[in-house]
Amino acid sequence: MMFIETRGNDATRPEKVRFSEAILAPMCSFGGIYVPESLPSLDQTFLKAHLDSDYKTLARSILEAFDIDIDAAVIDEALNLYDGFDDPSNPVPVVKVMEDLYVAELYHGPTRAFKDMALQPFGVILSSLAQARDQDYLILAATSGDTGPATLETFKNRKNVRVACLYPKGGTSDVQRLQMVTEDATNLKVIGIRGDFDDAQTALKTLLGSESFNQKLSEKNILLSAANSVNFGRIIFQIVYHIHSYLELIRQGAIEFGEKVYLDVPSGNFGNALGGYYAMKMGLPVEKIIIASNINNVLTHLIKEGKYDLRDSAVIPTTSPAMDILKSSNVERVLFDLFGAERTRELMQQLDNEKFYKLSETELSRLQQIFTADFCMDEEGKKYIRATFEQGYLMDPHTATCFKAYETCREKPLVTIVYSTAEWTKFSPTIANALTGEMDTHDQDALKSIAKTAGITIPAVVSELFEKPITQTTVIDKEDIEKEILEFIS
Ligand SMILES: *Cc1c(COP(=O)(O)O)cnc(C)c1O
Repeated sequence: MMFIETRGNDATRPEKVRFSEAILAPMCSFGGIYVPESLPSLDQTFLKAHLDSDYKTLARSILEAFDIDIDAAVIDEALNLYDGFDDPSNPVPVVKVMEDLYVAELYHGPTRAFKDMALQPFGVILSSLAQARDQDYLILAATSGDTGPATLETFKNRKNVRVACLYPKGGTSDVQRLQMVTEDATNLKVIGIRGDFDDAQTALKTLLGSESFNQKLSEKNILLSAANSVNFGRIIFQIVYHIHSYLELIRQGAIEFGEKVYLDVPSGNFGNALGGYYAMKMGLPVEKIIIASNINNVLTHLIKEGKYDLRDSAVIPTTSPAMDILKSSNVERVLFDLFGAERTRELMQQLDNEKFYKLSETELSRLQQIFTADFCMDEEGKKYIRATFEQGYLMDPHTATCFKAYETCREKPLVTIVYSTAEWTKFSPTIANALTGEMDTHDQDALKSIAKTAGITIPAVVSELFEKPITQTTVIDKEDIEKEILEFIS
């Protein structure tokens, strides 16, 4: 399987690359991103054959169908990371919450959020490619919360890869910060920035574009790479759990083989939803994909009105911060798939230059054949958390946005899979507030209060964080980031 570029080829790069190239050097012509040239088809025979497969067996077959240039032994080693999830035989439990609403829990990995689903196996693949090529990579990450811990966790002590992770000091939850600053490995550097997430991200972008910085890296024979959410090495693992969840519904007797379902996804950068879109194109019986957002609702407007409008918008901080995103990067892959490279380049250039694009009527109706969307305000989300808890299910604020969309977006009474992207432990102050009305500012108090109210225990990986020694103590001004990173790699 070869990979091509969403905005066409500028003749200075290869027209097609293999998977390894697409993940190690993801830069594309005209600022585009890599997409598979074609998708394998998972017909009924494939799905039937996997009715009784465990997660890793299913994943192996799907990856095989993509025919990527990664050794089977490396793929196996990567998939073995799912053995570290709560239930090694089923890393993604699918739980019945209402008669026709099932929740696929994507948060049972080491950092308690869905980023582990893709980043855990991805870390093995990237590191083994780097070793095979005898190259050293530096991965730079700026995080507002979930990506940082998951990136550090996956690359911890892996050969030929170092990670420098920037986070806004005071801008993450206690659990998220502790997950980062208690990481103890010589190939990891965690840097607190005096400023907000935008400052951290802007500083990172400046650095990536800085000639002197790149010059100094190449003097040390270090290559830059990114583990961000447009990397296809992450997307490929996000196709698997959609198919797994569908098969789980059959196993649980919730649907008949071949019956269509809704996929209901809390969306930010659209990686999770894109995985569902590819699964649907490959043959999974999906009625529509429901895109749930918070008040940062650019995707709702895109899918309802065909307009992507960033002209008067600024990110509004919410209680579902992993979805506080306006430029949803993976949408580009859907545009490419539906409308081709030329049109994608035109639309994306308009977005870059004018902060706006509008689809034609025909284009919009094609988008609406696949997607439907709604958004959920923080206060509404809390009501869903509370009401659902009273029915016996505890969920986080990202997942709650899907419950609103479940009520407003379905045109047919079909079974719906809601994707739950974070455990209650990661956003505990909001949840404690939803359940009891109290206003804890510290995670530790909120965690205890939820555990008591719900009669559950705090998972050890979370409670232990508060006891672990803090090993990553660097906090600096953004002007000093370059110096700090150069010191780390020398
Ligand atoms: C990253 C994240 C999301 C958004 O996922 P995308 O693939 O970027 O759309 C939603 N919820 C949580 C908890 C996340 O960490």
